[in-house]
Amino acid sequence: MKEIKFNIPLQIKESINNVKKLLKSGEPLHGPGKNILEIKKEVENKFNFKNIFLTNSCTSALEICALALNLKPEHEVLLPSFTFITTASSFARTGCKLRYFDIEKAKLMPKFEDIKKKITRQTKVIIIVHYQGYSVDYLDSLQQLCKQKKIILIEDAAQAFGSFFKKKPLGSYGDFSCFSFHETKNIHSGTGGMLVVNNKKFINKINFIFDKGTNRNLMGTNKVKYYTWVEIGSAFLMTELSASFLLPQIKDYKKIFIKRSNLFMKYVENLKELNNKNFIITNKYKYKYNFHALVIILEKNIRDSFLRYLKKNKINAVISYMPLHKSSFGKKFHKNQKKLINTDLYVKNVVRLPLHNSLTFKEVNYISEKIKNYFIK
Ligand SMILES: *Cc1c(COP(=O)(O)O)cnc(C)c1O
Repeated sequence: MKEIKFNIPLQIKESINNVKKLLKSGEPLHGPGKNILEIKKEVENKFNFKNIFLTNSCTSALEICALALNLKPEHEVLLPSFTFITTASSFARTGCKLRYFDIEKAKLMPKFEDIKKKITRQTKVIIIVHYQGYSVDYLDSLQQLCKQKKIILIEDAAQAFGSFFKKKPLGSYGDFSCFSFHETKNIHSGTGGMLVVNNKKFINKINFIFDKGTNRNLMGTNKVKYYTWVEIGSAFLMTELSASFLLPQIKDYKKIFIKRSNLFMKYVENLKELNNKNFIITNKYKYKYNFHALVIILEKNIRDSFLRYLKKNKINAVISYMPLHKSSFGKKFHKNQKKLINTDLYVKNVVRLPLHNSLTFKEVNYISEKIKNYFIK
């Protein structure tokens, strides 16, 4: 058995052919070109999203939101401590305050009660992170609450492309939703992302921010003759080159996810005698799911030894996020705040097993056997 990688970025032959086609055509490699337009059309048709901005990362999408919101130092952005760094840093750079939620063990996402308790008069933004591509089971109620309290809801849907809550895709519930097409996600463009703007109030401003702070988008409709500087923006656009690689995967995303789901379910079946005893696998979700990650939460504090053991057997498993409230930068927002008991307790036991489209069933069986051997000695 050769070394099993944690992730091998997806490369379907249609992507390679489409990149070649673009290169041969002599069309510009920066965006927006035909591929960008076609991705937007596909996404609109498949998920009924309007106002789609294709970016060079999910981080860029989050930063666009932060710039659009005009946050002041007294404003609070609420988010889980258990998330990727840029969920936080994109907002922290505006000088606002961050407040962290704790999580529940079952899905490693916050409880609705905890979110409600954290809201103050200064709360301007709530970020809900669809960890593993799952949603919390109160996303619609959270949307209602935010409307009522005039709080902006942002979905960090970096891992959630193709997942649903009730009848609507994730990304439909927030004022803004941010997706990632980084090569560690289900489908990708090396790095890449997508911002969906559901709150129409912000669209004009975001058009400017998105395109380096210029009003270049107005040239298309002949509203201005020359473009000029109108906002603070940056270089957030996805390149046409990246889009040409991504487009075929968007078209075929369902087929791509079937392979993931089969591998995922194979793990669950293989490990069922250990599940809920030696660790927890969150494997039940009521709605359509993209099978982004195979996450286990170990019951005992044995993560280092477990990962070392897997590594010795040529299996590369990884940890998930380090809690932000304990990080050297992120802890400054957590002075005199309540302890995040579950985050402290469970995050150190989280492990992600290899899951990607090049993984074979034989490898999943091998990994499962090794895991069984570890626990049943
Ligand atoms: C991957 C990820 C990001 C960052 O995505 P990029 O496209 O790499 O910027 C942000 N948030 C979460 C939850 C992620 O998983």
